[in-house]
Amino acid sequence: MVNKTIKGQFLYVINKILNFAYPDKCIVCNKIIYDTLDFAICRYCIGDFYIFDREICENNFEKNKGFSMFLYTENIRKLIHAFKYDDCGYYAKVLGIKMGEFFMKQNLFSADLIIPVPIHKKRRRKRGFNQSDILAKEFSRVLGIPVDYNSLVRKKNTIVQFGLNKEERIENLKDAFMIVNKEKLIGKSIIIIDDIYTTGATINECRKTIQSIGVQEIYYFTLSSTNDIC
Ligand SMILES: [Zn+2]
Repeated sequence: MVNKTIKGQFLYVINKILNFAYPDKCIVCNKIIYDTLDFAICRYCIGDFYIFDREICENNFEKNKGFSMFLYTENIRKLIHAFKYDDCGYYAKVLGIKMGEFFMKQNLFSADLIIPVPIHKKRRRKRGFNQSDILAKEFSRVLGIPVDYNSLVRKKNTIVQFGLNKEERIENLKDAFMIVNKEKLIGKSIIIIDDIYTTGATINECRKTIQSIGVQEIYYFTLSSTNDIC
């Protein structure tokens, strides 16, 4: 009993020292968080986060064969921008875990394989990583479903979709992907992972490419979606 108390006090002190040395910072506004919150996001910033409820997820799954975790609000935009362009890839790690937990809670479907939306090798070299790979890796860890990083390849270095309308996005992504390991995907049910679902053009082009080799069950799950009604 005495030992337990001493051990407890020791851990408490160590924890305080570590917190002092490395305080948690809000991943949106970068201010120090003094009280521990889920997501390492401060109370002010988390007010902007809208997590989809079960009914919306179910409706979207029926309609589009997939669903998203967050509505794409201003703070989610900042967060995605930070991990894509400001060398903060570690944010994607936290969010990938959250995606896994959220997906499990919704329990709408399961699959054999996870495929992150690939980026072109030139863009990967420039950015240093593919954000969807990181989301998929952590998502996979939570769910225990393997990730296939290599079978779907982005062969076309498309221009950034931002600012394009739906038709332009479809045109921009036409024949952008290809399959290199056909035998790895045949007969599997697949979840495509991405950060944002906007018009669905990217997910649909990936789906079309995978479907072209005869795979039938293809779903998606994204971190965020710009559509609040499904
Ligand atoms: Zn904040």
